[in-house]
Amino acid sequence: MTAPLRFAAAIPGWHNAAACRHADPGLFFGPDGESDDGRSRRERRAGHICAGCPVRAACAQWADEHQPRAGIWAGVSHDRWTAEHRRENDRARKARQREVAA
Ligand code: SF4
Repeated sequence: MTAPLRFAAAIPGWHNAAACRHADPGLFFGPDGESDDGRSRRERRAGHICAGCPVRAACAQWADEHQPRAGIWAGVSHDRWTAEHRRENDRARKARQREVAA
């Protein structure tokens, strides 16, 4: 996959071994106004590429650390990364509140 220019500066070296390196970027970054069905089909196709990627773990770690605002990373859409990140922040905040209250 060749990432859109807005991401190019942030792509780390492990991406040279990525299964998506030569894939259609349109599979990983959907167009504005995409239908739900189209998005599902596109994300499924991208997910199949990610499933066999040798650098999937590095990609997942990168996405977790950088919280990209678009795209599919390690087979997961940025929406799901964001939602998971929010849940982790909530869990950490509640754990801190419990520590303070104890
Ligand atoms: S896991 Fe998917 S998005 Fe990440 S580098 Fe591999 S193919 Fe690309």
